[in-house]
Amino acid sequence: MHILKTINLEKRYGKGNNEVIALKPTNLVIEEGEFVAVVGPSGSGKSTLLHLLAGFDNPTKGSVIIDGKDITEMSERELSVFRRRKIGFVFQFYNLIPVLNARENVELPLILDRRKIDKSYIDELFMLLGIADRMDHMPSELSGGQQQRVSIARALAAKPSIIFADEPTGNLDSKNSEEVMDLLRLTLKKYHQTMVMVTHDLGIAETADRIIRIEDGAICQDIKSKQKSFF
Ligand code: ADP
Ligand code: ADP
Repeated sequence: MHILKTINLEKRYGKGNNEVIALKPTNLVIEEGEFVAVVGPSGSGKSTLLHLLAGFDNPTKGSVIIDGKDITEMSERELSVFRRRKIGFVFQFYNLIPVLNARENVELPLILDRRKIDKSYIDELFMLLGIADRMDHMPSELSGGQQQRVSIARALAAKPSIIFADEPTGNLDSKNSEEVMDLLRLTLKKYHQTMVMVTHDLGIAETADRIIRIEDGAICQDIKSKQKSFF
């Protein structure tokens, strides 16, 4: 079963002579449970693609269908509710709220939606991510690696259909990157979660189920890891 599908998804910035085609018409299908790495040179359109998929940005043409719903047809209000329920996002710079502690940061998306908080699930997330003893700490009291683990717990808190991550290890040293990626992979596997991650780190991309390479606004390579091991 696929969880995400794009139909002729296209993004242009600017007008006339200044027009930039950041994403050429793209048809992409992502299966449930897949861990997809998106790689490519700087300026190739990786962030544009991720932001369109997550509904942070409107396409110039085409659609994004998540869980059978066309997010490009939704009103702002519908989209923000859908995003909090169905989409998790992990940023390079964590984006935690500095005046809330770790647990409050993770629970905030649920509180905003007046949803029941599954305490044992939240506790389990903190445990799986190795930060159970940091639940009551403020972001300023946590290392970069710990803040990123809190932001992963936040992305997973609402049990979303799909998670997007934009260079989640881009601000971490190699030891922390490896730890965060190992914990993230285990957690995703445990909940059979789908993730699309932009990364510059080819070592990390190699551990994905599928690598999509973007160049000049178009997908130029799409390899599944099963195929990788055959060649
Ligand atoms: P990547 O994430 O691979 O570095 P981006 O998706 O950020 O690439 O950018 C793709 C192209 O779109 C680049 O040429 C970039 O300059 C252009 N671009 C991105 N965002 C904007 C914007 N807000 N306005 C104009 N051009 C943009
Ligand atoms: P890491 O190995 O993740 O880079 P650090 O060396 O930055 O970790 O931090 C080591 C420990 O010190 C961590 O457990 C963290 O919780 C704690 N710590 C880091 N910064 C602060 C701070 N500003 N206030 C309180 N504790 C901190």
